[in-house]
Amino acid sequence: MVRDFRANGRIVIVGASLAGLRAAEALRAEGFDGSLTIIGDEPYEPYDRPPLSKQVLKGWVPAEHTALPRMRVVDADWRLGVAATGLDRSARRVRLADGGQVPYDRLLIATGTRARLWPDPAEAALAGVHTLRSRDDATRLQQALAARPARVLIIGAGFIGSEMASVCRELGIPVTVTERGAAPLVGALGGVIGAVAAQLQREHGVDLRCGVGVAALEGDANGHVRRARLSDGSTVEADLVVAAMGSLRNVEWLEGSGLAAGVWGVACDAGGRAFDINGVVTDTVYVAGDVARAPHVLYEYQFLAMEHWDNAVLGAQAAAHNMVNLEPDYRPHLLLPSFWSSQFGVTIKSVGVPSFGDQVVCTQGSVRDRRFAAAYGRRGRIVAAVTFNHGRWLEHYGQMIEQSSPFPPPPAGWDRPDDMRPRAAEFPPPGALTAIPDVVLTGHDPAERRAEFRSRH
Ligand SMILES: Cc1cc2nc3c(=O)[nH]c(=O)nc-3n(C[C@H](O)[C@H](O)[C@H](O)COP(=O)(O)OP(=O)(O)OC[C@H]3O[C@@H](n4cnc5c(N)ncnc54)[C@H](O)[C@@H]3O)c2cc1C
Repeated sequence: MVRDFRANGRIVIVGASLAGLRAAEALRAEGFDGSLTIIGDEPYEPYDRPPLSKQVLKGWVPAEHTALPRMRVVDADWRLGVAATGLDRSARRVRLADGGQVPYDRLLIATGTRARLWPDPAEAALAGVHTLRSRDDATRLQQALAARPARVLIIGAGFIGSEMASVCRELGIPVTVTERGAAPLVGALGGVIGAVAAQLQREHGVDLRCGVGVAALEGDANGHVRRARLSDGSTVEADLVVAAMGSLRNVEWLEGSGLAAGVWGVACDAGGRAFDINGVVTDTVYVAGDVARAPHVLYEYQFLAMEHWDNAVLGAQAAAHNMVNLEPDYRPHLLLPSFWSSQFGVTIKSVGVPSFGDQVVCTQGSVRDRRFAAAYGRRGRIVAAVTFNHGRWLEHYGQMIEQSSPFPPPPAGWDRPDDMRPRAAEFPPPGALTAIPDVVLTGHDPAERRAEFRSRH
């Protein structure tokens, strides 16, 4: 139920993409009739990113045809092409790159993530070195692929790197993929399922090099990338390089705002209300989408950041609901995480959080036929499932995860695989970087004790 004083006033959304748009639509659908301002640093109306690494790279769909469908007309002041550069929570104002300031009564942070760039700026600036996150990135990369490079080098075999390798092979372009971990998708799905993904890549002609990093990129006299030197001493001749090394959260503009924001994202409760640096929930600032990080009831209340499409939509809708309602009408965002990917003729889908598990068991179908379901478990309960071309089983496992059902799950009556023994799922140890705290406590008087950000340098 919308309360009068929450049904009007000024709401500002920073980030004009999937989460920002769906939140704006939900606010109007909830009856919010106050002023709504949407700030986005990209010059475009909100567009959809999943097609960028799939249909757009293949040349099937132009990047400018990926605009997100509108669920309803949104009466809002769209400020596109201008970045938010600061947040003053005392004055309740968002500072803009053009010098302007936008006052708010309630604020939604939906600034998502950006691609991690190749770390050496001179090498990253070589012609032919790309990343993929935005519409413009996809246009440039599609044009570079259409020019038929002699060989593409993809650095990183996560979902986006693997999808791009798949597109290269579909286009008949030779491709080398380097992955520092033991297998493609190892961070998301573990080494056992990663080994299946590795076989898939090699069967499709990918020159896959695991357990190896890129030490340096080298260019020619015209400043165009020509080769990469790898950490094992070998070299790869490539005239197109894509750094697919994961993402960084867009939180720099929040520095000094006193919110619990850092490399891990912006912490919020399961209703999208942002935490301040002391871990106290705020009344005016909300977070949704890739940049948000919230405790999840099914995963021991650990803070989860989910860079998934469904999470952006449903998290934004829950946050929007809570922005215009009062307790006890708050709605939690209790989505069971899910993900899909298409690569090498296989549709990979997952539910739950595979990396939360430490064991995996194949439960249906046949790994050899690339048509199977596998479940992940931890401490005797099922926490996730993945399917390769066998998505019909996903809902079944989704329900089991939501019910905290026992692991390993009981064998299905039919479609049984040959080997149903649970195995270690082989996830890599957590990265050293994320283990470094950058928040410390100050003072000894409980009344004065506060948290403070400290630089790592
Ligand atoms: C190539 C690609 C393929 C993908 N494929 C899949 C898939 O198959 N399945 C799946 O589930 N998910 C997929 N995803 C992930 C999915 O697209 C994201 O989860 C989703 O886009 C998140 O939406 P968001 O609105 O939270 O963030 P974003 O889409 O990142 O949007 C954030 C917006 O805020 C803007 N912004 C940042 N900082 C500022 C600032 N200071 N001021 C103003 N604006 C700012 C950004 O430029 C951006 O426009 C894919 C992503 C990519 C890049």
